[in-house]
Amino acid sequence: MKGLIHSFESAGTVDGPGIRFVIFVQGCHLRCLYCHNPDSWHLKHGHEYSVDQVIEEAKKYRTYMRFSNGGVTITGGEPFFQHEFTGEILRRLKELSIHTAVDTSGFCNLNIARPILENVDMVLLDIKSFLPDVYMRVAYRPIEPTIKFARYLQEINKRTWVRFVLVPGLTDDPKNIKGVASFITGMQNVEKVEVLPFHKLGEYKWEELGYKYRLKNTQLPKPEDVHKAKQIFINHGLQLH
Ligand code: SF4
Repeated sequence: MKGLIHSFESAGTVDGPGIRFVIFVQGCHLRCLYCHNPDSWHLKHGHEYSVDQVIEEAKKYRTYMRFSNGGVTITGGEPFFQHEFTGEILRRLKELSIHTAVDTSGFCNLNIARPILENVDMVLLDIKSFLPDVYMRVAYRPIEPTIKFARYLQEINKRTWVRFVLVPGLTDDPKNIKGVASFITGMQNVEKVEVLPFHKLGEYKWEELGYKYRLKNTQLPKPEDVHKAKQIFINHGLQLH
């Protein structure tokens, strides 16, 4: 089976535990205003790889993975966009007893995602916002699939780290942050939360692709604002990354 890959990262340290081989798959339904990989949205931009080739790439880094309790993370783009390709890569990785993670927005068809999740050890779940109108403004898609996905992860007790991007003037309303925090509080499967300060590292890609970068004039969050956002999660009894 073949699929389209955006890129690989051989020694990732931020996308799950330990040192990880990170696979960026091509394709995403969302259009997040702060996306730093807008070149991953459409299938026309990817590089074709077979599952065998991807697995061979991943296997080169097994020693690092083993020594660091790491593994492989599939991100993107959106891992569930090319669901058959992603599903087969994960199945093969589990056959090799390699730890697997997916970094997803949860915007997917749950019927398709369910069997794929059987070969996933942990999920990095990006919750863009809790207020539905803000979610729509950030990602141009509705929040409901993410909520359903998160509830399913809770139901199957899948180890999960939640990620939340703090964007001044967009996601930083305390009501919004408290909404995310209250939603995940009490989910036994959520181990920790990561507050990611908005950055503009992907801005040049938007320009190269001829897309309008709407956050051009948005300020980066101040350290004290990041601290306040983190404090909201801590006050809800959640552990931070
Ligand atoms: S879900 Fe990720 S890849 Fe897709 S648009 Fe949002 S930030 Fe970009």
